[in-house]
Amino acid sequence: MPRSSGESARRTAVVGGGVAGLTAAHILGRAHRVTLYEADDRLGGHAHTTRDLTSSDGRGHRVDSGFTVHNRRTTAAPTRTCCGSSTSSAPPPRSRR
Ligand SMILES: Cc1cc2nc3c(=O)[nH]c(=O)nc-3n(C[C@H](O)[C@H](O)[C@H](O)COP(=O)(O)OP(=O)(O)OC[C@H]3O[C@@H](n4cnc5c(N)ncnc54)[C@H](O)[C@@H]3O)c2cc1C
Repeated sequence: MPRSSGESARRTAVVGGGVAGLTAAHILGRAHRVTLYEADDRLGGHAHTTRDLTSSDGRGHRVDSGFTVHNRRTTAAPTRTCCGSSTSSAPPPRSRR
């Protein structure tokens, strides 16, 4: 497989820097020169950490949206991609999905 820095690498465009686009760019980047196009001013798409919640004592809290289920059974491919095969995982919690 050609390396991404080699001249034989294809130039590939990925549109969207959400979980899907970031994963595709990560995998394709092993063999191709990848350009990622993202319309927003941040990456992540629906998966996002905000500091929008302030409790009564004035402290800011981080709130994550997006992936709430992440384990081998429910999200096998992304889990393999990001975490490899040596990562342990817990059984999935009850989900509204
Ligand atoms: C509260 C919540 C909980 C969730 N829980 C789960 C869960 O437990 N498990 C699960 O699998 N999923 C869950 N999801 C859904 C999960 O977040 C989405 O499935 C996932 O983020 C979708 O990723 P995506 O990359 O396909 O799309 P998105 O995250 O929507 O990303 C698309 C990106 O493309 C960009 N874009 C769009 N059009 C263009 C354009 N023309 N040019 C350039 N950029 C563009 C957007 O700005 C965005 O950044 C949840 C979502 C929410 C909101």
